[in-house]
Amino acid sequence: MATEERLAIDYYKTLGVSRSADASEIKKAYRKLARKHHPDVNPGNAEAEKKFKEIQEAYAVLSDKEKRKQYDTFGTVDGDPTAGFDPFRRARSRGPQQDPEGFRVDFDGAGGFQDLGDLFGQFFGGARPGRTRPAPRRGADHEVAVEIDFVDAVRGTTISLPVQRQLRCSSCDGTGMSGRGQCPSCHGAGVVISTERMRVKIPEGVADGNRVRVAGKGAEGSQGGTPGDLFVRVTVRPHGFFERDGDNIHTTIPVTFSEAYLGGEVEIGTIHGPVRAKLPQGTNSGRVFRLRGKGVRNTKTRAHGDHLYTVEIVVPKVVSPAGEETARRIGELYQGNPREKLPRTL
Ligand SMILES: [Zn+2]
Repeated sequence: MATEERLAIDYYKTLGVSRSADASEIKKAYRKLARKHHPDVNPGNAEAEKKFKEIQEAYAVLSDKEKRKQYDTFGTVDGDPTAGFDPFRRARSRGPQQDPEGFRVDFDGAGGFQDLGDLFGQFFGGARPGRTRPAPRRGADHEVAVEIDFVDAVRGTTISLPVQRQLRCSSCDGTGMSGRGQCPSCHGAGVVISTERMRVKIPEGVADGNRVRVAGKGAEGSQGGTPGDLFVRVTVRPHGFFERDGDNIHTTIPVTFSEAYLGGEVEIGTIHGPVRAKLPQGTNSGRVFRLRGKGVRNTKTRAHGDHLYTVEIVVPKVVSPAGEETARRIGELYQGNPREKLPRTL
């Protein structure tokens, strides 16, 4: 089984900037998106919350010179992409009033918090004195993309792929705090991003563009909320011979003139193995035959589709005197011109 694996995280796309964007463009894009998607501005909106987390992660990587370089080169970042990303320190060391050009985020009219300390405290479930504990939140869903071979899609397979998961930091139990300082494991974030190799069962009959759900393998929930799900988006590499149309398979079967004229048995290759099929006498090129139940198994109904094959009469390339004579005789078998009844123009 040759399975290409890649993670679907495009941090540039997440922030809506080009790959050549400079630090200030990235910062600007991040601040704009963080304002729009912050949970305080979108209470109870799981989609916004998910988006917000993605934005944080993207910014954590792209705002860090080293991480960005690593990401640009390898398409991924070792370990925790948010490690060392410390909005608390920055927010603490500068008062929100002191540095209008700095890292302050204003949520026009939305209220709720004044600086990134608040923003991240909220987001990561950090324990801030005087704040009431937020309600349980379900973890975000994650999606990864894989490309698999046609045969693996048709028969089903198990793939192993690296999946980045956001987990509650076990050192500080998600508080982001250690004693009076910030937790050294998660740098105050309360969460860590871990990359796990995960085995995912791809069901028999999966089709190009399908998403396979792995329950509970998305981000961990906060405040006791349930975890999100992992979705594996499957791209299926096309096969050179078997063509898939829903649960049906199509092939083209070349036959000789004598096979088509006399009829007989031909072997038809199907995804379930070869099948011997009767070719009726006088079969025309282009005629389609159906082998019931020889198609792909439907992932939901578990019923098999059909195999449809189109007969194509092939003509020998080499012209010999004996062949010419035979062909002339064959020509005499036709009663008249086969194009006689066709319209000659519009
Ligand atoms: Zn921690």
